Amino acid sequence: MKFCPKCGAELADQAQICPTCSCSQPPLSVVQDSSSFGFALLGFLIPVAGLVLYLVWKDTMPLKAKSAGKGALVSAILSVGLSLLVVILYILLIVFAIMSSGI
Ligand SMILES: [Zn+2]
Repeated sequence: MKFCPKCGAELADQAQICPTCSCSQPPLSVVQDSSSFGFALLGFLIPVAGLVLYLVWKDTMPLKAKSAGKGALVSAILSVGLSLLVVILYILLIVFAIMSSGI
């Protein structure tokens, strides 16, 4: 629910023109919402912040929410991938150490 800034009449959320005074309404989603590389980067650097922003914005600003969420997701996947890689390298190192210890 929103209200006409000119005459204060009640408007449908998707209304482009006020039915009372016929002034045009700025489309909220286009003005305020856009995908943002900055927020994707923020989500990537601070996944928790990205997740919080995604949850806060997913209804009002879905594109911005997606950007922040994507950054957080990429970051999460990368950190899981990196820790898997470290574990695999560690196991290889142990295997190599056992094999070279001369059995
Ligand atoms: Zn109006």
